Amino acid sequence: AATGALAFALAGCSGGRGGGGEAAEGSNEGALIGVAMPTQTSERWIDDGDNVKAKLEDLGYKVDLQYADDKVEDQISQIEAMLNKGAKALIIASIDGTALTQVLETAAEDDVKVIAYDRLINGSPNVDYYVTFDNFEVGVQQGTSLLTGLGLVDESGEPTGDTTPKTIELFAGSPDDNNARFFFDGAMSVIQPFIDSGQITVGSGQTAFEQVAIQQWKLEGAQARMENLLGLAYGGGEQLDGVLAPYDGLSRGIINALKGNGYSADELPIITGQDAEKASDRLILEGEQYSTIFKDTRLLGDTAAEFVDALLNGEEPEVNDTETYDNGEKIVPAFLHESVIITKDNLIEEVVDSGYYTQEEVESGE
Ligand code: BGC
Repeated sequence: AATGALAFALAGCSGGRGGGGEAAEGSNEGALIGVAMPTQTSERWIDDGDNVKAKLEDLGYKVDLQYADDKVEDQISQIEAMLNKGAKALIIASIDGTALTQVLETAAEDDVKVIAYDRLINGSPNVDYYVTFDNFEVGVQQGTSLLTGLGLVDESGEPTGDTTPKTIELFAGSPDDNNARFFFDGAMSVIQPFIDSGQITVGSGQTAFEQVAIQQWKLEGAQARMENLLGLAYGGGEQLDGVLAPYDGLSRGIINALKGNGYSADELPIITGQDAEKASDRLILEGEQYSTIFKDTRLLGDTAAEFVDALLNGEEPEVNDTETYDNGEKIVPAFLHESVIITKDNLIEEVVDSGYYTQEEVESGE
């Protein structure tokens, strides 16, 4: 069917992609939109998928929503299937940001619009727009909340003057996810000065992204690495004051490892996170996890759907960043949403009062 659609497009329009070959008037009404999400193991992606679908359906589109169980090959076949079904636009949260070059070539031949969702798609010229959060700033917020929890900076990021030495460990996300480096670099931009001054020590000495990255953002991977680190650097009862964790699933793996090694709930170090997942919200309210970063996926879903709608109506979506996201082939015009640092103090206000989760969900963690 993709070949059929391609033949039709070539016969029916004079220009190629971007050459003014918009589909005939009205033909995008009720069109099919493919939405490719990475995994259902993290609840944020389930919320993302549901939000995008609902918003697209509100706008009158049909939606093919797929999850790929974190398997790159599955995501590629799902996108191929969407193209075969005649999807007019794709919204993709990639698993491996570099693995979609070929399938997006097919999409471009069919003049299918492509939105990179939350994660940048690298190595392809066929990415029209990127909708996400300010990923470097998310990292800065993670680093800042670690330092706040340790008592070294205040909420505006200003040093408190506390000179007590602190020992921490660092974790980063999956190396195939373009966001992982942005988060790590953002966090290190605020943590590194304290390492340089000698006030903060990384107990294991592992500070390079490659050493601290956790494949596929897996809870089990973080748990195993934390167990290792405990044996490596804390076997003699050395104090661990803080852990930089870039995602709530990793934070919970780290907490499992610590508790499994005899840390009681009130001996746990300051542990950061991301996504305000229900299970972590509960741990924050109970004082086991210190912080998370709340990314309101409703906003992101709305923006992605609105971008598709604009593009299919021949309009240009409004972006707010045209310089940050170079994917190796082009700088992808982006719309960046803002995220919020969450601790016990503002969790209910931000996450519950905004209607994102109910009080019962964050208290029960389910
Ligand atoms: C997202 C984060 C999420 C992580 C793991 C990243 O690409 O931006 O919000 O925590 O993936 O799913």
